[in-house]
Amino acid sequence: MQSILRAACALSMLAGTAAAQTIYPLDRAEMAVGARFDLKVEFPGNTPPADLKVTINGEDAGKVFGRAPYIDTDEDGLGHTAYWIRGVELPKAGRFAVVATDGQRSAKVEWEAFATPQGRIARNVILLIGDGMSIAHRTAARMLSKGIREGRYGGELAMDDMPHMALVSTSGTDSIVTDSANAMSAYTTGHKSCVNALGVYCARNRSTLGHPNVETIAELAKRKLGLAVGVVTDAEIEDATPAGMVAHTRRRSDYDDIVRMFYWLQPDVMLGGGSLNFRPSGDGRGKRKDGLDYIEKFQKAGYRFVDTATGLASAAGEDGTRKLLGLFNEKNIDGSLDRKFLKKGTVAKFPDQPDLTDMTRAALEVLSRSEKGFLLMVEAGRIDKYSHSLDWERAVYDTIMFDNTVAIAKAFAEKSGDTLVIVVPDHGHPVSIIGTYDDAKGEQLRDRLQTYADAGFPNYPAADRDGFPEKVDVSRRLALVFAAYPDYCDPGRPYMEGENEPTIAAPAAVQPAPQTSPDAPQPAATTSTGATLAPQQGASSARDAAKPAGEEEKPRALANEVYCKSGAARKIGNLPFTARSGVHAADDVVLTAMGPGAEVLRGRVDNTFVFRAMARALGLGQ
Ligand SMILES: [Zn+2]
Repeated sequence: MQSILRAACALSMLAGTAAAQTIYPLDRAEMAVGARFDLKVEFPGNTPPADLKVTINGEDAGKVFGRAPYIDTDEDGLGHTAYWIRGVELPKAGRFAVVATDGQRSAKVEWEAFATPQGRIARNVILLIGDGMSIAHRTAARMLSKGIREGRYGGELAMDDMPHMALVSTSGTDSIVTDSANAMSAYTTGHKSCVNALGVYCARNRSTLGHPNVETIAELAKRKLGLAVGVVTDAEIEDATPAGMVAHTRRRSDYDDIVRMFYWLQPDVMLGGGSLNFRPSGDGRGKRKDGLDYIEKFQKAGYRFVDTATGLASAAGEDGTRKLLGLFNEKNIDGSLDRKFLKKGTVAKFPDQPDLTDMTRAALEVLSRSEKGFLLMVEAGRIDKYSHSLDWERAVYDTIMFDNTVAIAKAFAEKSGDTLVIVVPDHGHPVSIIGTYDDAKGEQLRDRLQTYADAGFPNYPAADRDGFPEKVDVSRRLALVFAAYPDYCDPGRPYMEGENEPTIAAPAAVQPAPQTSPDAPQPAATTSTGATLAPQQGASSARDAAKPAGEEEKPRALANEVYCKSGAARKIGNLPFTARSGVHAADDVVLTAMGPGAEVLRGRVDNTFVFRAMARALGLGQ
């Protein structure tokens, strides 16, 4: 299998190489005036440097950018010729035609550079990401926290009650379905990228750190305006969404490198989970392979370090705290259903973890001390993770927590008057509410499922003052279903003993099922402009490089029999046989916004436009 894959990758590379040169940034890239990026062109074969010519609006690229290109006639031993000019920027707004030729073949792309109005429209920007949050999560959160009677809700979610709304399309350069890495990268850089990539275009480089970079909004905001930057998440802080603020790598799981990139940029506030990747392996508290202790390094760089909710509140309250690192779990912070009610997950090991609301309040308190304003990103990461594990109750309780966080950001913005607030998922999940499950209506799940008039309304108790129903395992529950799943058993009720594990890996004796591997290379596509869309080749080679030998064959996933008790529905999966959990959807997601600069967010936009709206508000394109 492995050798077949290798051979297929090699073939795919040859096919790509024979097609045409590839220019990065790709065709139709949009960038802020003055935002930095790496120009890279990959020419087929070992082309003599003298034959290469790259022009921008007809003028030699080296001349336009004021520096000579670096040319590698056999990059990474892959047989292509690479032309690089790193760290360049476009000096004025307009359209830029980029033509690359080796004397025989040429490729052309067009970029757009946009300027932002003079001065700043907003002093601060708060970007709130509900990871994987789809319409059904939002609707269910509204039903559970506000109640619904005779078809009317008892109130509005904070995220719904905002003056500006837009549909956001999330697809990446290589696929209609994005992951959290390239989705976040589109928000933070304004450039589309490919699955698993952060702050780079996916080229053919072997090293995951060698791909052409694009500057992130956090880097821009610090470099150009000296803004304070905050990164808050309930996932691991080196996970894809928070990493999207600082990272440049083809592989989102380069956690050791991503922590180093956090250290390079030094955001003023960093709060989340993921302490294992900050500490060296060996003493049981870390797993870094380079032996470095980044908690110690941050402390030496002037950061207060906290690891409990209590410590966070007191450190944030101190006037002198300007730089704050808080890591409250080795991995992800537990979700609100576990922390507040069920006490499952890792709550016994980490009894004093903050809520996303606590972290956001603390971040706002510290960042407000910045004289120049701030850029704050807050992520509710487990809405996505619990949706992967087909555990919708945990995902929806975290959607309620996320909405409480939105309320805090809105209150801050209303008071300050100069803060742009954007609330947006990075992508969706295929989820829908189709009725209710009524325990009084029979033994089997399908007997209990009630639709249309029979569904009526669920009987969750009225929410507590934080918007959470205290009882989740009620007798008439929402039927929120997933459209994509592996083989699993659906009990149709909440997982009271801990997060759902829908599948287990088949024992070695069970043969893997025939499948189309998601890692299988695809043929190179050619755009109307003649430039090859190369991420497919990049994707294959980077994944090859990323995987130790023998890892290509994933075991077949089997339903976790723990949940296959009487009354549960045994579902024949519709995902590939090796899928262990649910997957993302390509559906558009809903953005809401308020504050100065929010008015440009309307209609349907590409995810890259969210970057543009933030850059415009902060005046970063000047
Ligand atoms: Zn996900």
